Amino acid sequence: MRVKILGSAAGGAFPQWNCACANCRAVRAGEFHGKPRTQTQAAITEDGRSWFLLGASPDLRTQIEAAPELHPRAGLRQSPIAGVVLANADLDHVLGLLLLRELQPLRVHATASVRRILREDNSMFGMLQRIPNQTAWTDFEPGKGFSLCNAQGEDSGLLCQAWSLGTHYPAYVTAGRQSQLSPGEASLGFFIHPPSGSSLAYMPAVPQVDDALLEQLDACDVLLFDGTFWSDDELIRIQGSGQTALQMGHTPVENILMKLAGVRRPRKIFLHINNTNPMLDEASPQYRQVRGTGWEIAEDGWQFDL
Ligand SMILES: [Zn+2]
Repeated sequence: MRVKILGSAAGGAFPQWNCACANCRAVRAGEFHGKPRTQTQAAITEDGRSWFLLGASPDLRTQIEAAPELHPRAGLRQSPIAGVVLANADLDHVLGLLLLRELQPLRVHATASVRRILREDNSMFGMLQRIPNQTAWTDFEPGKGFSLCNAQGEDSGLLCQAWSLGTHYPAYVTAGRQSQLSPGEASLGFFIHPPSGSSLAYMPAVPQVDDALLEQLDACDVLLFDGTFWSDDELIRIQGSGQTALQMGHTPVENILMKLAGVRRPRKIFLHINNTNPMLDEASPQYRQVRGTGWEIAEDGWQFDL
């Protein structure tokens, strides 16, 4: 399986359009020791021809153009993108679906709850259903394995298992709708298994890390893990108000470094990094601390095989 990281920043990207934090200011001034990043987007393939997107970011158009593997190959209208797997209904994870509306057959794997939010409550997503066989939606359930398939139902060979991580739906989902949804289907992580027997954990939003999750992570070969905020009060200190990282469903990196210290088998990579996170600055003590513990900090364009 080949894994490509097309984007590695949290929602808003880096720099963020309305942000003048120290990091964003330094990037704009050309004085930053580190790289700008687009919003988190990963793509995986087993055969090199059919690719599956993990989420669909608002930066997807430019991310596709930056990745020749994802360009059309044959005929006037074609795409190597066979499907999308959704971990949640957050805007920075689903808005890119609307950028894939040009009548290209796709399969979208999602929980029934996420599918209902998008298709029943947000009429714009009807643009994905304008003609028969445009977008095939397949529900999955947390804890159960499912195969990633293209729109025609052909199995890619990639087996995916969703792990329920959070119970909070995005703020745009009405209270009435939330009462009809299954809390365990709100926010997922994925364990992805190619035929080689190796495994990838993809978890861009991790509200808490319990022993059952630690055990699963320790059996993986590569982790792509929540690196959103360095500290719990990061946004409050910068903005003067707001929510803590944990209230937003993200375990701070400084806590993850401790909690996952005993997880030694996998290659450990942070992604979904907010523009305020001091570890983005490669001259910072936080960057040195992360790298010193063996963790890596994802950059747009990275790829690896497993
Ligand atoms: Zn910023």
